[in-house]
Amino acid sequence: MSPTKLSVAALLCSTIAASVPAAEQRPNILFIFSDDHAAHAMSCYGSKINSTPNLDRIANDGMLFTNCFCTNSICGPSRAVIQTGKHSHLNGFVRNGNRFDGSQQTFPKILQKIGYQTAVVGKWHLASAPQGFDYSEVLKGQGPYYNPPMLLNGNPEPVKHVGYTSDIVTDLSLEWLKEKRDQSKPFMLMYQHKAPHRNWQPGPKHLNMFDNVEIPEPDNLFDDWSGRGSAAQTQDMSIRTTMTSNDLKLNSPRGLTPEQLEVWNKAYSAKNKAFAEAKLEGDDLIRWKYQRYIKDYLRCIASVDDNVGRVLDYLDETGLAENTVVIYSSDQGFYLGDHGWFDKRFMYEESYRMPFVLRWPGKVKPGSVNHNLISNLDFAETFLDLAGANIPADMQGKSLKPLVLGKPSGGSTTVPPMTIGFGNKLINYSQPNFRDALYYHYYEFNGERRTAHMVRRHYGVRTDKYKLIHFYNLDEWELYDLEKDPREMRSRYDDPDYAAIVAQLKTRVGDLQKQYQVPDDRGSVPADPPSLHQRPRQQKKKAPAKKNAA
Ligand code: CA
Repeated sequence: MSPTKLSVAALLCSTIAASVPAAEQRPNILFIFSDDHAAHAMSCYGSKINSTPNLDRIANDGMLFTNCFCTNSICGPSRAVIQTGKHSHLNGFVRNGNRFDGSQQTFPKILQKIGYQTAVVGKWHLASAPQGFDYSEVLKGQGPYYNPPMLLNGNPEPVKHVGYTSDIVTDLSLEWLKEKRDQSKPFMLMYQHKAPHRNWQPGPKHLNMFDNVEIPEPDNLFDDWSGRGSAAQTQDMSIRTTMTSNDLKLNSPRGLTPEQLEVWNKAYSAKNKAFAEAKLEGDDLIRWKYQRYIKDYLRCIASVDDNVGRVLDYLDETGLAENTVVIYSSDQGFYLGDHGWFDKRFMYEESYRMPFVLRWPGKVKPGSVNHNLISNLDFAETFLDLAGANIPADMQGKSLKPLVLGKPSGGSTTVPPMTIGFGNKLINYSQPNFRDALYYHYYEFNGERRTAHMVRRHYGVRTDKYKLIHFYNLDEWELYDLEKDPREMRSRYDDPDYAAIVAQLKTRVGDLQKQYQVPDDRGSVPADPPSLHQRPRQQKKKAPAKKNAA
């Protein structure tokens, strides 16, 4: 902004109450969010399996957080926590299938009140219509990868779109930025991808990416889950037994136009024919499934990355970049063959950790890194703080603004568990005494035989060094030493050397439950039926319709 413009703005704003900062000073907020994108599939987090040059632009120009974790590793609940700044048991959306009570306090509503233009485009996944937005155009439910029907401004009659969803969500976001918003106000845009959620259908541009390469396997692809409790042993999310022929693209997807289908079949037919002829078995079959799965997952991410690049270019070209905070994150992580799994839900690192990178030109030091324990519980508070709004006392997280505007803490960057190889040129901005522990609580196990992925309810606490988990309906505890065992292959709960740590963490998790007002009955959730305990899941059979578990 030129000096003349600045002084005019100052004059105009001199009459505005001091509690609301001048619009010119308030940053725009672009919150880019994807679904199930694990940090270890981003090159700025040291991915060994792919490259994400456009997402890396945000990290390189700003701050990369190595220790961001979700409070409940599942799609809808993570989004509800972000809307409200409250844990699942208070915002009421504890598991997928719930309906978000949009009448409650949310951060977009507060931003609207202080003069922000607010919009959400893409994945919403909270069942009820978005509230607190000047503009919303969201996928219906999960939404398909191709030709998505979308709900415009709460209208229940969907608008049909033809094309690849990641491209369409980006086109609509750009359209809003260019033409539809009130340019006299600062904006907060939630630009939300469906990708790379299951079942990982790549877009037409990336169908043949990775065709001639072999993606490295995780070191625990053949994990047998010994050393952990019955929850890990009885899940239903393994590459070995859970993946379907649709997941593996042995069938063509539904809902494609004839032209799209032709392009699709051209990419997969020969590969599928070769697979059928190879008649793979045992470990070789698992290896093939892993390659098929991970390549499709990474192809979906490549499209997200390309599209984020288009939006960043637009911000640069228009000069909007200067006063826009850009954030990239994902609702939780994902198992990329780690422990032999796909999916999420568990408090184990790979699906518990969220990517979180933030840039704010002129404010946040490029190439900075932060290792503090942060969470999606902090996002609402952060957005409000960035915009100059007061943070309501009943929100449960903490603003990250003091971290992003902090001073370098000196010393070399310590490499946190699991996050690997992002180089040593980063400047450490971790701040002392931000937070010593995070609370986690996963609820989506309803005791029926067909609960998706069969992951038991659990709560837990994570510190810099340790993680204590209680699968409370099984009454089984697990303790991990994250420094000695970053892959969490062996619980130390029964090891006498760790007895003092266990006692300390049990007290800490109890204190956190009091602090966050977790009900004693843990949200009136019914106990698991005992018949399901310690029953390893065998090869999938078609379950009879709606039969109650014994
Ligand atoms: Ca998700």
